[in-house]
Amino acid sequence: MARYRGSVCRLCRREMQKLYLKGDRCYGDKCAVERRTYPPGQHGQGRRGKASDYGIQLREKQKVKRMYGLAENQFRLTYKRASSMHGVTGHNLLQLLERRLDNVVFRLGFANSRTQARQWVRHSHFTVNGHKVNIPSALVKAGDVVAVVQTSRELGQLKEAMEAVARRTIPGWLELDVKDLSGTVKALPTREELTMPMQEQLIVELYSR
Ligand code: SF4
Repeated sequence: MARYRGSVCRLCRREMQKLYLKGDRCYGDKCAVERRTYPPGQHGQGRRGKASDYGIQLREKQKVKRMYGLAENQFRLTYKRASSMHGVTGHNLLQLLERRLDNVVFRLGFANSRTQARQWVRHSHFTVNGHKVNIPSALVKAGDVVAVVQTSRELGQLKEAMEAVARRTIPGWLELDVKDLSGTVKALPTREELTMPMQEQLIVELYSR
């Protein structure tokens, strides 16, 4: 699958919003979005015309897709699944994205970014309910316990991430046990608990065209 290998800060600058793709740096004053408040590229500082409805919808989809680090086909499949579920499609979409194991590992503070979380899940550093799971897109459910495997507990990068956890806000639908290096999914996230600025109805409108 094609993977974006360019500067991730450039993606944030394109959306003119912090997408938290680079770990600790995102929380400091070296963040590129704060230092350069205009889109990247030769014409980034030039005048831009008014965006069309399609343009606005597309940017919102790109933003959410990049935030969770998904490729277009993965994102589209997630949308398809969301639209076949009961309830509001946009809310279902965000909930499916949040329930991904790589996202939960990131949200619990075990990794500094979703990219790092995805790599660690792939390398089998985590268990779900006591069983090793190495599929980043695996979905957690209420009551699941995600834990670091015993043999990975001394990893330097994990220790660094846990030292930084005090600066992070663990969402209310998750509960972190720092001593046990585990986290519990207390309940599935509600729309109100997803505080990142996302306008999911724009994504629904885009895919409904
Ligand atoms: Fe985005 Fe983080 Fe880079 Fe800031 S430091 S532009 S939030 S990836």
